[in-house]
Amino acid sequence: MFAVLLALLALLLAGVAPRLMARLVWFRRAPRPALVAWQAVSLAAVIAALAAAPAAVPYLRERGWLVFGMAAAVTLLVLGRLLLSGHRVGTGLRAARARHRELVDILAAPDDGGRADGIRVLAHATPTAYCLPGRRSRVVLTQGALAALPADELDAVIAHERAHLRGRHDLLLEYFTVLHHSVPDPVRSPEALREVRLLIEALADRAAIRTSGPVTTARALMTLARGQAPEASLAAAGDGTTAARMRLLASEPVSPLVSAVMYLYAGAVVALPLTLLWLSWR
Ligand SMILES: [Zn+2]
Repeated sequence: MFAVLLALLALLLAGVAPRLMARLVWFRRAPRPALVAWQAVSLAAVIAALAAAPAAVPYLRERGWLVFGMAAAVTLLVLGRLLLSGHRVGTGLRAARARHRELVDILAAPDDGGRADGIRVLAHATPTAYCLPGRRSRVVLTQGALAALPADELDAVIAHERAHLRGRHDLLLEYFTVLHHSVPDPVRSPEALREVRLLIEALADRAAIRTSGPVTTARALMTLARGQAPEASLAAAGDGTTAARMRLLASEPVSPLVSAVMYLYAGAVVALPLTLLWLSWR
């Protein structure tokens, strides 16, 4: 019974909950608790799937082979995918970033190479800004961005990129991507990853607003929306989320009570599969 419930819960959390959560647009006005809620749902889905087989062990005493077999299939499928996607996302992204960082260091104009603050300037006309996270992190700007952005907007852009680096948003996204890909394609919701990316941008925009205010941040965003940032980097803009982010810049944050409810929801969602597993063994 609990094994079946856990398998159904995994399905619900991986396939149904994200589609519903993506429709709650006000979630975006509280990017931090929203990110915690998204992480919690994807983590809970994986926990539920992994717990299905252990929860089915008691069935073996009553020769419930079919239930155990199905639960074991769910668990092994998700476990296999989890290990595989963890390996792929981890090594693939890191290698891409290391190559990219080397390139940036080689290509950056020599007089900018001495900038102590990890900022690199590329000789390119398209206004673009992005960061390369990791131990030797870089904020990359193009000469086009320096030319197009007045000083205050440039400050907003750098504050945005620094927020990505400081908050290790790359790890957040990596962790979520691994969980996301451990669920088979027909079940998982494509909205989840898109929404988490948007929330991470909204979080960095908050930092830019604290430095430069909403109007300057919005102007900088508009300028950079014309640019294109490479894969495996966290861009300041130009990733197709600009319109949604502009709306968020103008919106009021949600009340602390709503944030608290979102954190509670996240906690409850993770507690649910763990409780079911515990009950199955009682
Ligand atoms: Zn960004």
